[in-house]
Amino acid sequence: MLVRAAIGSLAVLGLVDLAMDVEPTTLYLLQYSKKGCLASCAFCPQSRLSRAPRELVSRIPWPVVELDAVMSALRSKPGAFKRICFQTVIKPGFEEECSRAVEFLSRLEIPISIATTPVPRHLLEGLRSKGVDRLGVGLDAASPRVFKAVSKPHSWEAYIEFIEEAVAVFGSRRVHVHLIVGLGETGEELLRCMEHLYVLGAEVALFAFTPVKGTPLEDRPQPPLAYYRAAQVARYALSRGLDPREYVEPFKGLLRVRRGVSLEEFKEAFLTSGCPGCNRPFYNERPGLTYNYPSKSLLEREWDKVLSQVGYQ
Ligand code: SF4
Repeated sequence: MLVRAAIGSLAVLGLVDLAMDVEPTTLYLLQYSKKGCLASCAFCPQSRLSRAPRELVSRIPWPVVELDAVMSALRSKPGAFKRICFQTVIKPGFEEECSRAVEFLSRLEIPISIATTPVPRHLLEGLRSKGVDRLGVGLDAASPRVFKAVSKPHSWEAYIEFIEEAVAVFGSRRVHVHLIVGLGETGEELLRCMEHLYVLGAEVALFAFTPVKGTPLEDRPQPPLAYYRAAQVARYALSRGLDPREYVEPFKGLLRVRRGVSLEEFKEAFLTSGCPGCNRPFYNERPGLTYNYPSKSLLEREWDKVLSQVGYQ
């Protein structure tokens, strides 16, 4: 079976030569489709609207490899990854192919996440029974308005129903809903969406919008760091059962961290959010601009910078 693999993951396995400041702690795989994904998401290089090279996801190259080759390399490097993340694309038969991939991958006895668009409940149950312990859902947009504007497949309601069903199958806090900050949502929309997702029993994994040349959103700027930091603080508060509105407030249509909040207590908010072991180094980042910190040591080194980005320190 052919798949795409994030170049950093291949480097950890010794399958490509690449120097990295921080290594990925998850093996990131993407379902292969020659024509890319049949969906039309305006931000994604895999979408059928995109003129960007199919090798890209966000800004990172994902070369095509045999799943067998990846698995053999992984067998000779036990402990290289804490988790495997297999992301689907929409193409004929993608659900069955995903199930087959999970059958192979589960032999490695490493926790597996599947990131997918809505699929029928029996498929979720099948994945769960084959050993998948976490589900990622690319809702991406923080409101029905933005969902429509960026041409997500299915409907907002279908995604929300799917998230509810996924929580029922995988359990509370085991469904990680991907939200992209900076797609044109207001701060209030983002906050409300996150609050709702936590009420449903889901978790949120935050991504920063990253423009990719050749996609319809190639000219949209990345979100301001102060807004992103506030989104991280709000998400972290929600994941700890706290009221995010005590820590962040609306500001110029976006969000900012409230004056006086002790950021030392929120340090972990700035680490990459998602399934355990998922650090996604350099998905949204470029040198000198880090949205999600992929390691505690990098966050420690850049802590003063983070404080200055929040704005009040
Ligand atoms: S949070 Fe990370 S490991 Fe989990 S589904 Fe999303 S990308 Fe995959």
